[in-house]
Amino acid sequence: EENKSLNFIEQIIEEDLANGLPKEKLRFRFPPEPNGYLHIGHAASICLNFGLGLSYNAPVNLRFDDTNPAKEEQEYVDSIKEDIKWLGFNWDKELYSSDYFQQLFDWTITLIKEGKAYVDDQSSEEMAKQKGTPTEVGINSPNRDRSIEENLDLFMKMKNGEFEEGSHVLRAKIDMEHVNMHMRDPIMYRILKKHHHRTGDDWCIYPMYDWTHGESDYLEQISHSICTLEFKSHRDLYDWYVDQVVDPSLLRPKQREFARRNLSYTVMSKRKLLQLVEEGIVNGWDDPRMPTISGLRRRGYTPNSIRTFSETAGISKRDNVTDVALLEHCIKDDLNKTAPRVMAVLNPVKVVITNYPEGKEELLTAENNQEDENAGYREVPFSREIYIEKEDFREEANKKFFRLKLGKEVRLKNAYIIKAESCIKDENGEVTEIHCTYDEDSLSGSGTEASKRKVKGTLHWVSIKHAVKAEVRVYDRLFTDEAPDSYKDKDFKEFINPNSLQIINAFVEPSLKSAKNLDRFQFQRLGYFCVDTDSTESHLIFNRTVPLRDSWAK
Ligand code: ATP
Ligand code: MG
Ligand code: MG
Repeated sequence: EENKSLNFIEQIIEEDLANGLPKEKLRFRFPPEPNGYLHIGHAASICLNFGLGLSYNAPVNLRFDDTNPAKEEQEYVDSIKEDIKWLGFNWDKELYSSDYFQQLFDWTITLIKEGKAYVDDQSSEEMAKQKGTPTEVGINSPNRDRSIEENLDLFMKMKNGEFEEGSHVLRAKIDMEHVNMHMRDPIMYRILKKHHHRTGDDWCIYPMYDWTHGESDYLEQISHSICTLEFKSHRDLYDWYVDQVVDPSLLRPKQREFARRNLSYTVMSKRKLLQLVEEGIVNGWDDPRMPTISGLRRRGYTPNSIRTFSETAGISKRDNVTDVALLEHCIKDDLNKTAPRVMAVLNPVKVVITNYPEGKEELLTAENNQEDENAGYREVPFSREIYIEKEDFREEANKKFFRLKLGKEVRLKNAYIIKAESCIKDENGEVTEIHCTYDEDSLSGSGTEASKRKVKGTLHWVSIKHAVKAEVRVYDRLFTDEAPDSYKDKDFKEFINPNSLQIINAFVEPSLKSAKNLDRFQFQRLGYFCVDTDSTESHLIFNRTVPLRDSWAK
């Protein structure tokens, strides 16, 4: 039954199946270049490709597109694998474009022998000039008609390291008058005397992306090679390269494009993210303010929330920007169902309950999550002196202030009704202590008449004697502009938000002492928080994932 609507990539696949492509031949790949960490944009591609794999029960390869030794590292390979697994996906084969270097080289020799490729030793400026413009045809390189023997000889010398970097390239001989600029004798190989993270110093010539990608897809028999829109104009070249080697009895892969995922208030280019890391603007790729998968994980995002976000935002044929509020909505929605509720006070003021017996303490029962009937209950200690949030008390306030004010009552969550009687202030007029009385019959859940008394306003609190100190990192958006890298005359770093991290010394309820790294909680009335990876038992650190209310900062 076809009742869920298909996206345009699924429609293409359905059409191919209807036209005779056997379902068993469906095969996809996710092809990251290991030159940085994965980000929320990659998640769109991951969810799309692995999602297709799941809906069609087809294999999905993880292929590292590692043709540029200058920027690629094992650290990135490892993080990419970790992040895909964490998102909940399994690849069929782990493959590397560099595994195909020899095959690509062999095919290249054949192309040269067929007169379809030549060595050019002009400067790159010269070659760019000859290339022409979209409205003006290019002109042939003076080297275009070298003999096959000379091309073979020069190419072998390139391969054997006899030439300097940048002095020679190998070009495909296609058409300098082609309407598509990518078809005007594109570069297939360049010399790079760099150590490769996998092939070491075996090679000093490296194949270009276009020459590598389609051939890798063909070698892996990928049926649908899905990439982002900027490669649409490369499709002619992709096809030309594949057609040079394709065996008609095998599947000819097809490239199709979808729009990149952009997110408001951040940047997504790996080059720019690397700049933020290298210049110390953030604390590493997994800084909770980064749009990376590892940053979002450390921030408290769940795999489920990222998959839901990717699905909800969908895929598109046109460039667009997704509102970061949608991502925040997805994590709030997920954590609302799953995160245990606890009490923490971020900006404390002391409350003394003057009619509560001195020295007395009791354990009160608190529900862990009213949204989850299996979440159970826990005990929270109560005593004569507690902290509440400073902003939850005013000496005087209008009728709309449903928190604590002099002469009025509020309920303490899971505890008693208290009434503010007086307060003590310092020389600046700041309240340092609030004196309250409590109604000892009003304990929540005790079933008494007083416990059912309707009081406007419920406050969270922690018992001072039992409170645990914790560092809380409150994050705001990393950029102050919706599209920091959209300005031609301004650098994206001009829009860095100087207040994107605020460190608070907070007090949390003692049950949090045993919280483990990345455990997630709702701090009641405040937001969702998770234990940071730097947290230890003696120095608890929490990251604010997202506030409860949809608002900037607090
Ligand atoms: P960058 O320009 O930041 O280096 P990239 O596209 O070169 O990005 P890759 O590692 O090559 O990064 O990307 C791996 C796969 O993920 C590719 O298929 C690419 O098209 C896709 N991808 C990368 N960024 C996005 C994005 N923002 N939205 C959707 N897909 C993306
Ligand atoms: Mg790139
Ligand atoms: Mg790429």
